[in-house]
Amino acid sequence: MSERRQELEKLHRSLVVPGEEICVIEEFVPGEGAYVLNGVVRSGVVGRVFLDWIQRRVSVINPVGKPRIPRRGSTVYGVVTALLREDLVLVKVFADERLRRYNGMYTGFLHVSQASDKPARSILEVVKPGDVIRARIVNAKHPFQLNIKLGNSGVVAALCSKCGAPLYRVPGQQPLVCLRCGSKENRKIATGYIYVKKGR
Ligand SMILES: [Zn+2]
Repeated sequence: MSERRQELEKLHRSLVVPGEEICVIEEFVPGEGAYVLNGVVRSGVVGRVFLDWIQRRVSVINPVGKPRIPRRGSTVYGVVTALLREDLVLVKVFADERLRRYNGMYTGFLHVSQASDKPARSILEVVKPGDVIRARIVNAKHPFQLNIKLGNSGVVAALCSKCGAPLYRVPGQQPLVCLRCGSKENRKIATGYIYVKKGR
């Protein structure tokens, strides 16, 4: 219990993105900005987690301030939603560089040539559907062409394609690893990738 409590306390004020798992319904009920799906409480917005230990309620509060309209050169966050071709994925852009959620979604496309410095035959060697990415917009008009080679861009959160658990970055090692099933997967990882394995 106390170990889990420590884990939960670490969640307080941490930044989460839509769909991210926070806890299970037996621990906290969902309040503002959160929802429950199959017993798991997830964030519905980009924001910071607030745990109310008295009422056993978890809320996700959006950072204040309005996001600007995305334009060429903007850094944005998006979710990879579909593989369109071997070399192209569809991205739903949802927040600006400070993780302020846009009103509505913008459509983005990420081509393998904009995703990897190394020759990659498939875009799936770099990103996969379900990944949350930080990207730079390279064209002027919506729908946006995205680039994850520039700056500190890349995947900021990825889930195991076999079992759906988070993939962890192990400092000093290359592939991401699933702590649940042991699967190893490659991504183009951004600075600030959120799942990092602590300890040795
Ligand atoms: Zn797994």
